[in-house]
Amino acid sequence: MGAAVSDEAMSDTIEVSVPAIGDFEDVEVVEVIASAGERLEEGQSLITLESEKASVEVPAPHAGVVERMLVEAGDRVSAGTPIAVLRVGGGESEPAGGGGEAGSQAGSPGAEPELSASAATTGGKADIEAEILVLGGGPGGYTAAFRAADLGKRVVLVERYERLGGVCLNVGCIPSKALLHSAEVIAAAAEVAERGIAFGTPGIDLSKLGKWKDGVVSRLCKGLAGLARRRRVQVVTGRGEFESPKRLVVRGGDGPTSIAFEQAIIAAGSRATKIPGFPDDDPRVMDSTAALELEAVPERLLVVGGGIIGLEMAGVYHALGSRVNVVELMSALMPGCDPELVAPLARRIEKQYEAIRLETRMQTLEAHGEYLEARFEDAGGATSTERFDRVLVAVGRSANGDRIGAERAGVEVDATGVIGADRQQRTNVPHIFAIGDITGEPMLAHKATHQGKVAAEVAAGHKSGFDARCVPSVAYTDPEVAWTGMSENDAKAQGRAVETATFPWAASGRALGMGRSEGLTKVIFDAQSHRLLGAGIVGPHAGELIAEATLAIEMGADAADIGLTIHPHPTLSETFNFAAEMVEGTITDLYVPKRKG
Ligand code: NAD
Repeated sequence: MGAAVSDEAMSDTIEVSVPAIGDFEDVEVVEVIASAGERLEEGQSLITLESEKASVEVPAPHAGVVERMLVEAGDRVSAGTPIAVLRVGGGESEPAGGGGEAGSQAGSPGAEPELSASAATTGGKADIEAEILVLGGGPGGYTAAFRAADLGKRVVLVERYERLGGVCLNVGCIPSKALLHSAEVIAAAAEVAERGIAFGTPGIDLSKLGKWKDGVVSRLCKGLAGLARRRRVQVVTGRGEFESPKRLVVRGGDGPTSIAFEQAIIAAGSRATKIPGFPDDDPRVMDSTAALELEAVPERLLVVGGGIIGLEMAGVYHALGSRVNVVELMSALMPGCDPELVAPLARRIEKQYEAIRLETRMQTLEAHGEYLEARFEDAGGATSTERFDRVLVAVGRSANGDRIGAERAGVEVDATGVIGADRQQRTNVPHIFAIGDITGEPMLAHKATHQGKVAAEVAAGHKSGFDARCVPSVAYTDPEVAWTGMSENDAKAQGRAVETATFPWAASGRALGMGRSEGLTKVIFDAQSHRLLGAGIVGPHAGELIAEATLAIEMGADAADIGLTIHPHPTLSETFNFAAEMVEGTITDLYVPKRKG
């Protein structure tokens, strides 16, 4: 929507008014984005209008400096209502230090920030000067950038893609969960047939499903762009590489652009690991990004890697109608997870999928005209070949530390691309921080966001540190598998005395009502203090339920605290309460024989 313009008094100022915008008659100004004294690029938003149907931002029709805003939040406007006076052309003055944003020192997006006192120390004149440069616009990077801006820093965020959000939002967690929800609905609809409700075979419109998933992503991306704008975080698009400890160059996109910075936060993430020798340019050989594009539903799909990504995407393609095969190198699916928790998932998918091969190595994958041929080698050395229509390779992710010119900044990167960071997220170079996947496992968005806040706060001079007691993990499979803190195996490996209990969901009225009695809730307590050390849950919504256990660990809760906390009945959350009661010996919903001694 372009704003309407009229000349004002023969000068280089223009009056900007609300353009003709269809249904937007007598609509409310919900936000005044620009402020007097602020320099805007053409297209940057002036105000946000909201009708009953939608909200729309009115952009500046020209680059220039805002002379004054003519409306306030809460005003009602229609086409032709004047909203701002812009000074355009050569007579612009410098922005008045953040304009109406009280106390804000942040620069305007698209504007050239003022040279800071430390310009000399950042390596001379650069295209852009930043107090804090953030490299990478994923969950870790944008969180760090926003937090630093909220703490009054002038922040530049460099992202190689047009859209913020990184792998998680664009080609990872969010689109996969959008598809997994549809898979869950398909499975639930089929399962209620046993209870006398038959929906018949679902008709699947792949392109419509794909568009819906893309819509979810795009809505979140727009939200992020808005959050960056409102905080005056300057986003530079292109691939960033360090040139020195105080300078980064961005190529492609908006570049080449040189950015001098006082401090930097590296949040450049990870990439899918490839298997050498596999066809590189055949669209039928997919990584998780390609699999999420839903180009086609293969009749026979091979998933290489029985980890979290492999099993989540296997679930999506199974629901869409593929015959799914999984091949896993280790002796169990999700090898890092407690086998007791994986077992209910394994039992369910063994029945659904065509084959799950454990302790099996993929020797070769060859592309032929009509099919892909995989050669497997099992633990005993026997080989076999099979044909598939598509193959998803999900054998882990590698940190991107080797792709950002870190050596020119003096930042140490290990042989796997990981950049080490201390509790304050500082690398070996004190003014350069690293957060998220690039710092190694666990490669999880929620770990990255917490680290991002720590790095931003430390860079802004606050006393912060990453001292989370646990980082929860969730596989959004069906059933979901979630765990947090110490596992029973971890405790054994550390020689730590623990008491554990596993509450079977077969004794949960809520789980039975859902027809999902396979779930388990497991708790691990310190044998002396009875404090919760870890928990694992398998079953529908395990990913939501694990948050309570994570909070309990953070709060130092013991078995009595959890057992005496009244949980609503009938809910799945009770299973956590019951598991703690099992350790306390107070449970009445199960009969647990008293232990001798
Ligand atoms: P992963 O490490 O979880 O699983 C990879 C699996 O592939 C392992 O089980 C491994 O033994 C197996 N494997 C490796 N080489 C193989 C080979 N040649 N043949 C057969 N099997 C082989 O990795 P992933 O599933 O790719 O996920 C990558 C990262 O992303 C992980 O850190 C994960 O935590 C994260 N992630 C998290 C979520 C989530 O939180 N829901 C979702 C997706 C990804």
